[in-house]
Amino acid sequence: MEIKREALVNQISDPSAIWDLIIIGGGATGLGVAVDAASRGFKTLLLEQSDFAKGTSSRSTKLVHGGVRYLAQGNIGLVVEALRERGILLRNAPHLVRNESFIIPNYSWLNAVFYSVGLSVYDLLAGKRSFGRSRLISNHELIQRIPNIQQKGLKAGVLYHDGQFDDARLAVSLALTAIEQGATLLNYFRVTSLSKQGDKINGLAVTDMETSISYNLKAKTVINATGVFVDEILVMDAPEAGPMVRPSQGVHLVFDKSFLGSHDALMIPKTKDGRVLFAIPWHDRTLIGTTDTPLDAHQMEPKALEEEIQFILDTSAVYLTKIPTRKDVLSVFAGLRPLAAPQGESQKTKEISRSHKLMLSPSGLVTITGGKWTTYRKMAEDTVNLAIQSGGLPKRPCKTKTLYLHGFRESVDWKDSFFVYGSDAISVKALTRENPAWKEALDPRLPYIRAEIIWAVRNEMARRIEDVLARRTRALFLDARAAMAMAPVVAHLMAGELNKDERWEKEQLLSFNSIAKNYILNG
Ligand SMILES: Cc1cc2nc3c(=O)[nH]c(=O)nc-3n(C[C@H](O)[C@H](O)[C@H](O)COP(=O)(O)OP(=O)(O)OC[C@H]3O[C@@H](n4cnc5c(N)ncnc54)[C@H](O)[C@@H]3O)c2cc1C
Repeated sequence: MEIKREALVNQISDPSAIWDLIIIGGGATGLGVAVDAASRGFKTLLLEQSDFAKGTSSRSTKLVHGGVRYLAQGNIGLVVEALRERGILLRNAPHLVRNESFIIPNYSWLNAVFYSVGLSVYDLLAGKRSFGRSRLISNHELIQRIPNIQQKGLKAGVLYHDGQFDDARLAVSLALTAIEQGATLLNYFRVTSLSKQGDKINGLAVTDMETSISYNLKAKTVINATGVFVDEILVMDAPEAGPMVRPSQGVHLVFDKSFLGSHDALMIPKTKDGRVLFAIPWHDRTLIGTTDTPLDAHQMEPKALEEEIQFILDTSAVYLTKIPTRKDVLSVFAGLRPLAAPQGESQKTKEISRSHKLMLSPSGLVTITGGKWTTYRKMAEDTVNLAIQSGGLPKRPCKTKTLYLHGFRESVDWKDSFFVYGSDAISVKALTRENPAWKEALDPRLPYIRAEIIWAVRNEMARRIEDVLARRTRALFLDARAAMAMAPVVAHLMAGELNKDERWEKEQLLSFNSIAKNYILNG
């Protein structure tokens, strides 16, 4: 399905139209709400100020998980909910979620027993949606599976299963699902104010970031799904509103796959300062993270702090025998968790609840934040149920538990880099018949070909180089230098599709390079 921006913009050009729901924010949360609302038959509009998943939703650890850490914290309810959602997501998007085996290396017998028992409980809580049973494994098996593991003092391993996914690709799949269900979605549309009739919100003003044209739109309900930006929308509603979220930064480093050297993921449940660290095979690379650093301010492009980078390198050196160094880093990226603003100063971010927060303001504004990628569907269900109440919409049941997401395909060849397109893979490849030059690879370090750029523009609403290199493909996250090398060709291909001139290409390149250089570690 080709998607034309002009046609989407046309859909909001009638100022007298009343939307059932307008969703602000096109990350996991907002996209999930759009799918839920549209599939219940509501007239739904989603507005994203940048690109879909440009915020936190493309910067996660890429796990679809119950959260072993929350189990250790005794937060059973959260774990059960996430395990249920993990199973639902695997069933509805098997082309994007894969069953991954994780290994915890134990350097004391006490820990081996502790994690073995804990993960049996994890299995039990998953019930019929289990991804496979956990088990204690011998040193011999562990070393065979992860030859690069630090063997000194190693006693035994615990193997368990969880889900692994590509976050930005799932966001694209959700966006396309929402459109198929009848929703209107626009990226590069920034909401600038809310409008009211009396005390109640009845719409908003939004600006097209490409043309600077503004629109006043009417809605029965407005949903604030803006992640770490929720407070900005809350202030538009009530200038005296106190902060609801406090950002906590998480950083990941990406290395060549040989550093982990395994198909299994490594899980370190307690680093020396009590955090969890993962080393995960992801798109033929090793992804290592994350950190948890409270910040006072948020921004669109958060930057990794030196101490966070050092923490990941130092901790990796404790557990891996092929020790990754700064010069081995292919990409570094940071994301911001929208955690509930702490009430007492003593609360550490890693102890703040990760469950989602849903709030109805006296004006009727519905705000949803927190939670996890894994639970986006349940968050959306709860949000639309509240929106029905707040907007006086007809009661209709949620349909997303059994709704297959765009690209659904059961048999997946994980070795074929086109797997992320699911059932669209055939059409992406078919583009090379339209123009055989599009078969050409963009850079020898990454699997992407030119046809994927054309596909992203025509079918996946990509507007800028960064959309294509950071989120439709994951080039920037997998190898930032390779992404920068690809950028001029990408700009040229996009300009051809979007009917843009050389000036546009130059402006795009400057803008992309200024972002991409932050994904490279110097020194
Ligand atoms: C480091 C890290 C690792 C994580 N790992 C995992 C994991 O492995 N598994 C898991 O399940 N979860 C994980 N999470 C959590 C998960 O990523 C988040 O819960 C989820 O991405 C939040 O999505 P969101 O839509 O609420 O926010 P965002 O993705 O930030 O989306 C909010 C959107 O709102 C837009 N917006 C803001 N203001 C406006 C405006 N005025 N007009 C229009 N649009 C606006 C922004 O541009 C942004 O795109 C992780 C989070 C972090 C930070």
